[in-house]
Amino acid sequence: MKSKITTKILIGLVLGIIAGLLVGKTHLTFINTWIKPFGTLFIRMIQMSIVPLVLSTLVVGASSMGDVRKLGRIGVKTILFFLITSAIAIFVGLFLANVMKPGVGLALFDVEAAAAASPPHILQIITDMIPTNSIGALAAGNMLQIIAFALFLGVGITLVGEKAKPFHNFFESWSEVMFQIVSIVIGYAPIGVFALMMPVAAEHGPNVLGPLAKVIVAVYIGCILHMAIVYSGLLSIFARMSPVKFFRGILPAAVVAFTTCSSNATLPITLKNTQDMGVPKDISSFVVSLGATVHMDGTALYQGVCALFIAQAYNIPLTFTQQLMIVLTAVLASIGTAGVPGAGAVMLTLVLTQLKLPLEGVGLIWGIDRILDMARTTVNIVGDSAVAITIAATEGELKHNPEKIET
Ligand code: ASP
Repeated sequence: MKSKITTKILIGLVLGIIAGLLVGKTHLTFINTWIKPFGTLFIRMIQMSIVPLVLSTLVVGASSMGDVRKLGRIGVKTILFFLITSAIAIFVGLFLANVMKPGVGLALFDVEAAAAASPPHILQIITDMIPTNSIGALAAGNMLQIIAFALFLGVGITLVGEKAKPFHNFFESWSEVMFQIVSIVIGYAPIGVFALMMPVAAEHGPNVLGPLAKVIVAVYIGCILHMAIVYSGLLSIFARMSPVKFFRGILPAAVVAFTTCSSNATLPITLKNTQDMGVPKDISSFVVSLGATVHMDGTALYQGVCALFIAQAYNIPLTFTQQLMIVLTAVLASIGTAGVPGAGAVMLTLVLTQLKLPLEGVGLIWGIDRILDMARTTVNIVGDSAVAITIAATEGELKHNPEKIET
């Protein structure tokens, strides 16, 4: 019988927050020594699965598509949906920051200067995707290079045909085993989530709010609106899927993203939840794995809010055209952001540099970045799943399979 794993994960989350708030900062060393390792264990078990899971599922995915043209079509659609949803996310962020004015009248305190990130050149991103040593890419866990290598393997299998069948079967069997491992790890998630949440709640407590409360509220409202309007809209229009069903299905991955602040670490669970909602393996492995690295709506939204917040805090008015520039640079910056904790704050310096805003502004955000990271990472992975479902639906391949969704 399917256990009510989602409910258990949620209980772990809530209990972790309550326990952390109750125990508070005074016992932080105890919590970090005796509780946090159980969370680290959880993250490491997921990380252990990522490379073999992505490699095997993508090879199977790419070689099951049957023809290379389908792969190209799905690739183009995926990139379009990724870009459009990220641009909308920034508009949502800018809208909220214009309305709520989180930085206006903020008394500036001493801030550390941030080092600027250099902008990724589009052709550089493409050349970097091809590994010079494919085994090295696997060992280093370089996601984009692994994706490229897996796609080539898949295409190779398709073109070779009958003789490559055993090779295909090997990867297929390997991916089944990896999913089984992911199921085992998900069983441990309630404890892992509890152990990850408790130190964060104890460290930040309720007094993290204060002068930066408005930024937190703006990012959280933006994230909720983006998911509720854009993803629900996409799913209703293209997939005729009820948003309730979707959010319930993606909840385990969302909670794991919220607590780990890493799209990469959440990837195996995002994949599993997406497949359980009826997206075939070929499409889900491609869209979700790529999305974990390049599609970050939450990060884009956050960069929009923060850029405007910093401009307001330093009393630098931004024209409408400059705000449009934020949309362009933040889409690029979010693509270049790695799916690991805190990466979005580093890439925020890129947006600030383009707009000639003070880089020190990032120092303002640092103290609360973990809280913002929880929300943006959640949106990042929920967005990957929503786009995967949308694309499966446009291909006529979405299987409505409600009994598989664990509640
Ligand atoms: N932590 C985010 C993620 O993994 C990236 C970011 O910092 O914005 O998706």
